[in-house]
Amino acid sequence: MTTLKIDDYIFEPYIDRLKISERTQVLANEMAQAEFDKKPVFLVIMTGAYVFAADLLRLLDFTCEVRFIRVKSYAGMQSTGHFQIESDRLENLEDRNIIILEDIVDTGRTITKIKEVLATKNPKTIQICSLLSKPSAHLSPIDIQYLGFEIPDEFVIGYGLDYNDQGRNLPDIWKVKP
Ligand code: 5GP
Repeated sequence: MTTLKIDDYIFEPYIDRLKISERTQVLANEMAQAEFDKKPVFLVIMTGAYVFAADLLRLLDFTCEVRFIRVKSYAGMQSTGHFQIESDRLENLEDRNIIILEDIVDTGRTITKIKEVLATKNPKTIQICSLLSKPSAHLSPIDIQYLGFEIPDEFVIGYGLDYNDQGRNLPDIWKVKP
């Protein structure tokens, strides 16, 4: 299939499943080599990161804790700047090594907000792992310790990422055609 139509938008193939899985293995290897003095806590940002998290976490053979948190910031193709974080999953993070698992860092507002909230829980470290990042859209510099791919400022779907809840199931990543 060379294009895909969702509502009024046409999408074209962008990053295929093989590239994604190769890159995910590299990230898993990097994590395996990092020295954690305590089992890390992975905070998976729902919903977009669920596929990436499932694939990445199953490549790790050290003990870790996995929690899911929901942050809502997008409506359609626009980042709204409004956030809601369900914080009941943020208990007992004192002195823990936290790795946030994100699908994509766009403006960086979401990740910055999450880091702010986490910092109040007195963790030992906070690291970010994101499948994708759009550096040209970042509002301020963002340190991403484990990054899958840098992409231009274009809207993408697939591999967990949606357009109005559609496209999450697609095994490859697709980008919107201008
Ligand atoms: P930020 O706060 O960094 O601007 O936005 C982060 C969130 O916006 C991501 O977790 C994701 O849910 C959504 N987002 C940003 N860019 C895209 C994109 O290209 N495609 C999709 N499907 N979601 C995106």
